[in-house]
Amino acid sequence: MPKGPDARRYDLVLFDADDTLFDFGACEAAALKAALEDARIPWSDRALEEYAGANRDAWAAFEKGLLTHEDLKWRRFEDFLGRTGIEADPRVLGALYVDRLSDQRTLLPGAEETLRGLASSYILVLVTNGITEVQRRRLKGSSIASYFSATIISGELGFAKPDPRMLEAAARAVGIAEKSRMVIVGDSLSSDIRAGLDFGIDTIWLNGRGGSAGDARPTYEIRSLVELLAIL
Ligand SMILES: [Mg+2]
Repeated sequence: MPKGPDARRYDLVLFDADDTLFDFGACEAAALKAALEDARIPWSDRALEEYAGANRDAWAAFEKGLLTHEDLKWRRFEDFLGRTGIEADPRVLGALYVDRLSDQRTLLPGAEETLRGLASSYILVLVTNGITEVQRRRLKGSSIASYFSATIISGELGFAKPDPRMLEAAARAVGIAEKSRMVIVGDSLSSDIRAGLDFGIDTIWLNGRGGSAGDARPTYEIRSLVELLAIL
């Protein structure tokens, strides 16, 4: 059970979306399969592996400011086609994939019950690095949409986590200014936890794979989402 008003340390809980609430691996695989099918390219496990690698590299380049959202949509497919030797138009594939990904909403275990448990006591805001049309459509059709007071998407703002301005925009959207009353929950040390540290708020690292936090030092570390109900 979430704590009562007097015991609460926070008012605002910021949530990352992918691999924190949504099972991005499952969403990505289903979207890729559908997009390749649309383009009449045969599906294989290797295709998924190569795409996932190309996508990770593209987002890493994006986080460093080397790629825009627009370029990322097709450049990851250019890389994918290069890795697999498949011949196709990367821009066409990129557009098919974005369309198919927008329909993928598989949640991680415990996501729904955790948000339901927290929503009565906290203001919840989603803060996600992603393509605006994809994230808006995914969230709109999702069972968790009603728990969030606001959604902040990097594609809309032109900057992305770990830029602390993402969190500043989230706090401003719900009119909360006191940083000691905010906490961010996310799976990524380099974007979510880094952004929280740079913004000067508490951080909760969802460490589902049991990795090491290194010198990031999140305020809390959890292995599964439902642990939030004990912390918050
Ligand atoms: Mg994430």
